[in-house]
Amino acid sequence: KLEVKFSNQTEFLQAVDEFLSTVAPFLEKNPEYVEKNLLEMLIIPERIIEFRVPWMADNGAWCVNTGYRVQYNSALGPFKGGIRFHPTVNQSIIKFLGFEQIFKNSLTQLPIGGGKGGSDFDPKGKSEGEVMRFCQSFMQELQKYIGPSLDVPAGDIGVGGREIGYLFGEYKRLNGYQTGVLTGKPVSFWGSLARTEATGYGLVYFVNHLLMDQGDSLADKRVLVSGSGNVAIYAIQKAQALGAKVYGCSDSSGYIIDEDGIDLAVVKEIKEVKRGRISDYVKLRPNAKYFEKENIWDVNLSFDIALPCATQNEISEASAQNLVKQGVKIVGEGANMPTSMAAVEVLKQNNIFYCPGKAANAGGVSVSALEMAQNSQRLPWTFEEVDQKLEAIMLSIYETCRDTAAEYAEPMDLMAGANIAGFQRVATAMVSQGLV
Ligand code: NDP
Repeated sequence: KLEVKFSNQTEFLQAVDEFLSTVAPFLEKNPEYVEKNLLEMLIIPERIIEFRVPWMADNGAWCVNTGYRVQYNSALGPFKGGIRFHPTVNQSIIKFLGFEQIFKNSLTQLPIGGGKGGSDFDPKGKSEGEVMRFCQSFMQELQKYIGPSLDVPAGDIGVGGREIGYLFGEYKRLNGYQTGVLTGKPVSFWGSLARTEATGYGLVYFVNHLLMDQGDSLADKRVLVSGSGNVAIYAIQKAQALGAKVYGCSDSSGYIIDEDGIDLAVVKEIKEVKRGRISDYVKLRPNAKYFEKENIWDVNLSFDIALPCATQNEISEASAQNLVKQGVKIVGEGANMPTSMAAVEVLKQNNIFYCPGKAANAGGVSVSALEMAQNSQRLPWTFEEVDQKLEAIMLSIYETCRDTAAEYAEPMDLMAGANIAGFQRVATAMVSQGLV
């Protein structure tokens, strides 16, 4: 039924498919959820908002993009999830991200429902003024539907501190100062310390706990990371801090390998300060190699841990086979759904530990929820306090996934564990609330 109704929404169908393929053992033991038709209720978002975003380019031309906000599920709290600005954004992408967000937020044990938003606007190559005018126009419409206890957006691909600042400014102009309406704010106006680092750090904490469970550690592990944006940069930073050797990262134009270990200061300068391309890395580190238009997961280099931190479906079945060939033991997803279903199957068959994004990248939204707590309290917490809470949350998510997998599925099937544990909490809340 879903496949017919949403036949053109391939990413959304993929996310639902992946979820449904793992929750069956739980539903067999708890048939009341099937009787109440809870799955269908969960798959249909509470509300989808789609809107026009007109804005003026520097040359005076009027441009128009489409904006989206999917308010997916509010059983556990206000809708919560990022905003993505990328030319590939459409309703399918936002729905898949929103659907995953429900279970991710549930796993954090924090009071947040699931949502997601974005636009097909491409910030690449746009001037500061164009980005600002776009953000203002986007918020002029979005502000009608959000609020600190209703829906609290944050960043995602193409939306970092700069964009959140412009979005917040426009919201404030129209509605007054409401600190908690967005998270991922710059620290100067009540953003949380450690929010910028949270998704990347959280991912590495998750992988590190998995390793410790196996009597192992990150020390001297050979790691590759895809992307070179927010999640990738702080995953590299924490992995290096815990003793791993990170040899490569990428952007949508290609990837670099630095056999001496990635110099993160160089990556940060290129990406955060100059907003340049990863190809510039080799100009500053001549021993490194740049592979243009190639996918980092097709690399010919043996390594232990793959951390996909760029985008959906970046690891195809063929790339997964290459990971097996290169000796990879763990795939930890910083991005959302970066591994295709066929690729996940390859990892499973080869006993590679697979840490699904909805669990492993939940650090970002967790610290966003901590930012909401600080904003409500009107008090900032220290970096160390937030970071300690983040690590405790990631440990708890890891243990929940592991233990739920052991109870309902195969031991260490962390995807099944994440889906079942995430679902259980939302489903219980929905039933208790009369399915509204
Ligand atoms: P950024 O915009 O900061 O960085 C995205 C990175 O991924 C860039 O290096 C970008 O390269 C690369 N990328 C994007 N699209 C592609 C593509 N089609 N092929 C190859 N590389 C690509 O985004 P984030 O780091 O914030 O987000 C990365 C992922 O992590 C996304 O899946 C996001 O949903 C997920 N995530 C983010 C969270 C957060 O807190 N920010 C929280 C949880 C998940 P280029 O510059 O060339 O486009």
